[in-house]
Amino acid sequence: MSSATWQGRIAEIRVRLAELPRTRLATLPTPLDDCPRLSAELDGIRVLVKRDDLTGLAFGGNKVRQHEFVLGDAIASGADCLIQGSASQSNHSRQLAAAGARLGVETHLVPLQDAHSDPIQGNYLVSNLLGARIHPVPQGASVIDAKAELAASLRAEGRTPYVVGMGAQAALELAAVAYVEALFEIVEQLPPDTTLDYLYTTSQGSTQAGLLLACELLELPTRVVGIGPLDASHEAYIPPRGILELVQGAARRLGVETSVGLEDVIHDTDFVGEGYGVPSTDGIAAIHRLASTEGILLDPVYTGKGFAGLLAHIVAQRIPASSTVVFLHTGGLPALFEYAERLTGSRSPHGVGEQLPETPQSHKSHPESRETA
Ligand SMILES: *Cc1c(COP(=O)(O)O)cnc(C)c1O
Repeated sequence: MSSATWQGRIAEIRVRLAELPRTRLATLPTPLDDCPRLSAELDGIRVLVKRDDLTGLAFGGNKVRQHEFVLGDAIASGADCLIQGSASQSNHSRQLAAAGARLGVETHLVPLQDAHSDPIQGNYLVSNLLGARIHPVPQGASVIDAKAELAASLRAEGRTPYVVGMGAQAALELAAVAYVEALFEIVEQLPPDTTLDYLYTTSQGSTQAGLLLACELLELPTRVVGIGPLDASHEAYIPPRGILELVQGAARRLGVETSVGLEDVIHDTDFVGEGYGVPSTDGIAAIHRLASTEGILLDPVYTGKGFAGLLAHIVAQRIPASSTVVFLHTGGLPALFEYAERLTGSRSPHGVGEQLPETPQSHKSHPESRETA
């Protein structure tokens, strides 16, 4: 499609986006950063990073962009409180608490009491500062059930709760809609005459679905690759067929046709490592690499693993030389502080930068460090 044609198509779909209820929360457009020092190490593959870690609200991330549509719908449908639950270090919960504070809507969080809830740090600390009402649930409980129970008890008090996150299909589809618009930003920011060959991101479904739909609507040749932060053993896992349903749901909400098929949904769970929320060795290496070449930080739970997937696919020559790749950075940075010890495992906790040999004992107290890096 010529640039004049895709510009026309973007304008058409922006009209439909403008018809959806929306709350303004994010600082948009986010930057698209070229990564020349990293790219120079990658056999002629040009990597750019779309900085959705910089959406602005309370440390940013992809949920700030998504909440514009999700909470637009919540408010339009008469909700008077919001419910979200997840791991204690949930970025989603933190960004919802910030949006709730900004909009003056009471926000209830149902965090799991897991390996990262005590002492309070990272996202959990920030969620508390933002004034969310916190209802902890024990490790091993179903967060989907806990959210449903809380919603029922709030309804019994005459309230109108709106539930987001895992298991909430409407919210997941609207979150995908937000990433249709994000792709428009990317194509408008790419240097002229650049073909977007690959688009990588860490996704559980919505972000990937929106990007897939947008690439189809603009008839781009782009291959969208989602790297999963969790696999089928986790309650929040959405299989490729579910991601396809999110594409279709987002298309319905925009009033457009889609013929995206299951074969287009490339969702790779090979970089999860030991499990959701457990840093992986290659993910940590990816964090150090992007930070030291470009000054861009990734997080250990989502984007470090996603970037590790991109680097591994480059090494495996799954991406031809001279391709242009955008990595969409979905945020998650407050978790860095909760995982400090694991991220600096080879360094003295006292002397910054002082290299010490790896001591397996230093991880003993961490049940997540079974791999003894
Ligand atoms: C929530 C989250 C994701 C997954 O987003 P989806 O829209 O569910 O795909 C990825 N990265 C980070 C940092 C997140 O917080």
